[in-house]
Amino acid sequence: MDITALPSLPLRIGISSCLLGNQVRFDSGHKHSAYITQTLGEYFEFIPFCPEVAIGLGIPRPPVRLVHVDGSIRVRGVRDPAQDVTDALAEYGRTVAPALGDVSGYLFKKGSPSCGMERVKVYDAETGCPVDSASGLYARTIMQALPELPVEEEGRLMDARLRENFVERVFIYHRWHCYCAHGMTPAALVDFHTRHKFSVLAHDEPAYRELGRLVAGAGKRDIETVAGEYIRLLMRALRKIATPKQHTNVLMHIMGFFKDHLDADDKAELLDLIEAYRREQVPLIVPMTLIQHHLRCHPDDYLAAQYYINPHPRELMLRNRI
Ligand code: SF4
Repeated sequence: MDITALPSLPLRIGISSCLLGNQVRFDSGHKHSAYITQTLGEYFEFIPFCPEVAIGLGIPRPPVRLVHVDGSIRVRGVRDPAQDVTDALAEYGRTVAPALGDVSGYLFKKGSPSCGMERVKVYDAETGCPVDSASGLYARTIMQALPELPVEEEGRLMDARLRENFVERVFIYHRWHCYCAHGMTPAALVDFHTRHKFSVLAHDEPAYRELGRLVAGAGKRDIETVAGEYIRLLMRALRKIATPKQHTNVLMHIMGFFKDHLDADDKAELLDLIEAYRREQVPLIVPMTLIQHHLRCHPDDYLAAQYYINPHPRELMLRNRI
């Protein structure tokens, strides 16, 4: 398939509005993230949402928090427990979710009773003490409605592996949108899958085999159904963090493509760098750079088509840390 024929869709990301520097927090402040706006902003188009403002709580506003009430989690006022915005936030989330059909990811503000992706404190209604943790109400609604959507919190982006994982998922999901906009056919699905084989292999080998079986039978079933099953399984698999051991497996696999082209010294050099990466002595970019050099010297169409070789813009330097 000629991928230059794919439509070039904007890479759109939903985001908690306060992370962009918008003064929408309960105290009229913001939580601007320079990494998001200045680095990721070079590649992503952000669509901001502030659920608390959207349901009419105003700026400034009394703070709310998650509270355990009769076995369920409610969002209630900190100072006024009679204020309950649970249903309004859930309803707003259900309204937003269908409008996120063409976005490729969502960045949430950590710790928020509305936007937190996970580990938001839940308080006991009687004692007022934190007793548990959960997702923010709006974030939970979005994640349940769109389980394949790549999501992350701004705080977790400071972790190199979580950051790389999120950005890789976003770019893959964006490519998926481009394929779908072009028209998903069994042949297009095979092409998409083929180009992402090594990427999946680095995250989840059992899913890699399951996706292969799904794609192999795509011509015998309704393509919309197969495509839906495929993308859900793929995005779930990619959520698993690729470990150095799994990357090493892929690197050794790639090295096999050069076995008839490299002399003993070149093979030893590449093996040495792969081993140094496996031992976490050098970052992934080190063996990958040598692989890219060998690929230029010994072109291979199948290998060159693998998005694993260049999963995201080099300027983001996501493979440069151990
Ligand atoms: S965390 Fe969410 S609800 Fe709170 S200010 Fe930011 S966007 Fe609004």
